[in-house]
Amino acid sequence: MTGIRVRFAPSPTGYLHVGGARTALYNWLFARHHGGVFILRIEDTDVDRSKPELTTAILRSMEWLGLTWDEGPILQSERLARYRAMAAELERLGHAYACFCSVAELQARRAQAEAERRAWKYDGACRHLSEAERASRRAAGEPFAIRFRVPEAGKTSFDDQVFGHIEIENTDIEDFVLLRSDGHPTYHLGVVADDLDLRVTHVVRGADHLSNTPKQILMYQALGAPTPVFAHLPLILGPDRARLSKRHGATSVEAYREQGILPEALVNFLALLGWTPPGGKEIVPIEEMVREFELSAISKSNAVFDPEKLAWMNSEYLRTLPVERLLPLVEEELHNAQMRPAVGERIQNSEFRIQDEDRSRFEAAVRLLQSRTRTLKDFSGAFRAFFSDEYEYDPEAAKKFWKDASLPALLTALAERLAGIDPFDRQETEKALRLLAEEKAVKAGLLINASRVALTGQAVAPGLFEVMAVLGRRRVVERLLRAAERLRA
Ligand code: GLU
Repeated sequence: MTGIRVRFAPSPTGYLHVGGARTALYNWLFARHHGGVFILRIEDTDVDRSKPELTTAILRSMEWLGLTWDEGPILQSERLARYRAMAAELERLGHAYACFCSVAELQARRAQAEAERRAWKYDGACRHLSEAERASRRAAGEPFAIRFRVPEAGKTSFDDQVFGHIEIENTDIEDFVLLRSDGHPTYHLGVVADDLDLRVTHVVRGADHLSNTPKQILMYQALGAPTPVFAHLPLILGPDRARLSKRHGATSVEAYREQGILPEALVNFLALLGWTPPGGKEIVPIEEMVREFELSAISKSNAVFDPEKLAWMNSEYLRTLPVERLLPLVEEELHNAQMRPAVGERIQNSEFRIQDEDRSRFEAAVRLLQSRTRTLKDFSGAFRAFFSDEYEYDPEAAKKFWKDASLPALLTALAERLAGIDPFDRQETEKALRLLAEEKAVKAGLLINASRVALTGQAVAPGLFEVMAVLGRRRVVERLLRAAERLRA
């Protein structure tokens, strides 16, 4: 396939949520797979609900995910004249008409229909007005909307790339509004005008738009224009099989970023919400996705958003991330958590910034922790003691491993031994600890577990002697003494 042009068209009435991000991703993958063009369009004609800062936030989230666009962002709010011209064109062609029904009148008629248990669709009150009457009411300055004149007979059908053949009786479609009385376009008018002008070849969007498609097809037909190919994406459900919503927890891309999820992991996770790569692999690098992605492989069954799976995927990506890419992410995380550097000397204004001489120790700590990382948050959370002197002792860990009454004296003795060994590395620290245990006739495990809590605040951490080597002599000695003091108190 050549000349593929697709678009992602979010409305800036909220942040980029995972459903939108998946739509963007599928469009992006499809475009990249076929060497096509990916267009970004901002559907901001709803003046009351659209906010420019949300547009900025959406662009930021897309950039963070790596979903680069080739054209746009095109703002619908800058194209109002074009939409009015298209409404006028449809009217001129006899496919649209001015409707003078006010909102209040429409509401009353709808209420009446509901009271009589009749399904409501626009009753066509203005459809059959004479041209003369329309003209005179317009001339008198009566407000009016422009409605599409849906054919009275026949069917509208299309072959959706995901949902297959879809057909609907035109009598089931109401004469929908194209242009509101305030001159603003409805979603349908904006979409069709833009998709035509942008020469969009494939419309890939959420299944919640399936019922909009026949209306849009009728508009293409009325304009004598070719219709794009449609592919609707399955709904995303929460683990309880209800449609994914805020109730299920974080739904915005930004929130996952804040939770320490890697963009690579989120992209991989979103890709599998409706698409199965050949061979059913779970971890699929982006280049492979681009190579393999096909609209025909998208499932129409609802996809289930499983946060546990995302957490797993994130840890998989974190484990294998090249350390050069991980280091700046950790630095950013520590900076955002406003931690004071412990790796080297204190730096003014308490912001976490690694100085050159601390680099190797910082890198060693990150390397040591990488395989145990679930999210970037771990670096300011459970792994905090590797990057800051300000950390807490986990009460459970202290309760379990600081029971023995001989520990204050033992930890002090260990600190004294470690102060004098050379070099201060994994082997020598281990030798010193085991020797001391032997001399004092205690189990090495007692000292190891108690020291681990003293040095990291945690019951579980990488091997104690690796931890010691990474923290360095001064910090290890200080921390052991601090713990001994605390145990004496
Ligand atoms: N602005 C619409 C939405 O956010 C876009 C629908 C479409 O792609 O046609 O759902």
